[in-house]
Amino acid sequence: MSDSEHQIECSRHGKTNVTFLCRHLVEGEKLGFNLAYDPENPDDLCPDAWCDECDKVLDAEGGWTGKFEKFADIKVLCSRCYEDVRDRNWVQDEEIFHDLVRSSFSFIEPRHEAFLSEYKVDEHERWDWYQETAKLVFSHNGKPQVEADIQFSGTFSTSSNTWMWAWVNNSLSEIVKSSSREIKELGEELGLKQLVAGRYAATEVDGWEMTSVLAKHLNAIGVYRTPSDNGFTYMVITLAKWVG
Ligand SMILES: [Zn+2]
Ligand SMILES: [Zn+2]
Repeated sequence: MSDSEHQIECSRHGKTNVTFLCRHLVEGEKLGFNLAYDPENPDDLCPDAWCDECDKVLDAEGGWTGKFEKFADIKVLCSRCYEDVRDRNWVQDEEIFHDLVRSSFSFIEPRHEAFLSEYKVDEHERWDWYQETAKLVFSHNGKPQVEADIQFSGTFSTSSNTWMWAWVNNSLSEIVKSSSREIKELGEELGLKQLVAGRYAATEVDGWEMTSVLAKHLNAIGVYRTPSDNGFTYMVITLAKWVG
């Protein structure tokens, strides 16, 4: 768990939440990264984690025993160090990841082009999104023109160069981010870090890739992003209509 009540002062990253990892992960690389979600805190950014060898011991023991505890020798780390350890140890089939991104792009690209032209998206004066209703509204001369149903995929921060999935973001309402959690579940099935990890080092392109994965999953008609103070908010459009 990353326990917000228990903070740690890291010499590299300053004050962050406490996280727990097996000794092997902290010291090693490419050892596999097994996550244990706390049912009380399913959106935890940094669930307890251990390596593949620890996981075998846990399986053989049939649960968290003294023998497992001794073998895992759980260490306490700051949440930023946790992310470094995760990125170093996560092992996945890159072919599965690239296939998913490719197929997601080829699904959404023609639909997105059709969305842009049908609703003249580039011609409206302004946009506003309302997370309470999960709507994106394009307007002109103060009059709404196009109203779209949206689901947020996540945000890209230009100050930290990280992607953060919407499901981790406490400032977003459930109605507009719940679908992003389904992508985490898909990632758990496929073993893909980019889908499972709540936040990681990324580029703006990664933002489009993850948004396209959500778009395909939701059978969306388009993708969109809006600028914020320090980056972009990415979303998928599931439905649109002219209201002007
Ligand atoms: Zn281990
Ligand atoms: Zn640290």
